[in-house]
Amino acid sequence: MKKLMAGNWKMYKLKDEAKETASALVKLLDGAAPEGREVLLIPPFTALRGVRKALKKAKGFALGAQNFYPSAQGAFTGEIAPEMLLDAGCAYALAGHSERRHILGESDAFVGEKVAFGLEKGLSMILCVGETLEERNAGRLEEVVRRQMEAGLAGVAPGVAPERLTVAYEPVWAIGTGLTAGPREILDAHALVRGVLAEKFAASAASMRILYGGSVKPENANEIILLDNVDGVLVGGSSLSAESFAKIAAA
Ligand code: PGA
Repeated sequence: MKKLMAGNWKMYKLKDEAKETASALVKLLDGAAPEGREVLLIPPFTALRGVRKALKKAKGFALGAQNFYPSAQGAFTGEIAPEMLLDAGCAYALAGHSERRHILGESDAFVGEKVAFGLEKGLSMILCVGETLEERNAGRLEEVVRRQMEAGLAGVAPGVAPERLTVAYEPVWAIGTGLTAGPREILDAHALVRGVLAEKFAASAASMRILYGGSVKPENANEIILLDNVDGVLVGGSSLSAESFAKIAAA
């Protein structure tokens, strides 16, 4: 199983800048993802086309989307459908990122609808889960992660191809704050995620990727990527620069 090194550009970069960053990244990595790695770029919708072009000849790179609406098409002003994302070259999509849960008010159940629908339509899905600092301090980490995962995976068939389902553990207090979870915290949370996956998917859980996200940067990526049950990273801020994301991708 290749480690997945994902860069989530959130609501940053106009199309030309996005394309330039993607081209620079490909160049810094000599045209191919590092050995044993898959590099995933998740730009804003308006930059998908340019980033797709920049990745065209690169090996081991993939394109992803930050969000979609769980319906094939219809009167959903402002939303985008999985098929449109596939048409734009996306292979992956995120669901349940903490910014969507906390800023846009997405519920666990709605996130679950997206995961199931995205898989059904042919996208590989990355379900994001994670606790707030308040929840962690109240000893509720396990309860929160378990609840988000059970609802997030409720509609997923037990026989889903394991490479198409990834969980990203992102403690909310570590996202964009410069605070990173320590090795012990990451090991414990990832073991919990693996355990919940195993309850539902039995042996295939071992082949599903679990990413860590939350202030991953070139300085801490080496340590994080070597931890047990860490099958990649989901990077926000440090993926915006080709130089720093190239270092992380090669960690
Ligand atoms: P960050 O974001 O790397 O800027 O903390 C991570 C994420 O939101 O996926």
